[in-house]
Amino acid sequence: MPKKNILNQRFGRLLVIEEAPSNKNGNAMWKCRCDCGNIIITKGTRLRQGGALSCGCLRKENSNKAASKRMKNLKN
Ligand SMILES: [Zn+2]
Repeated sequence: MPKKNILNQRFGRLLVIEEAPSNKNGNAMWKCRCDCGNIIITKGTRLRQGGALSCGCLRKENSNKAASKRMKNLKN
């Protein structure tokens, strides 16, 4: 399968900054910089399908938000 060039494209908080070597399954891998400053390497298919929108900080923030919402509900 030809490798799709997604260099310099943005997916959520991730900006693709560099091509990375394919993983052992032959999947195209890309180095991305997250808005929070973290650098991660992830699969191109994952990026294009919206499966990777941050280095993981987004999920962390969302779960923190959910947790504080739960706390508020408890107080009320
Ligand atoms: Zn991040």
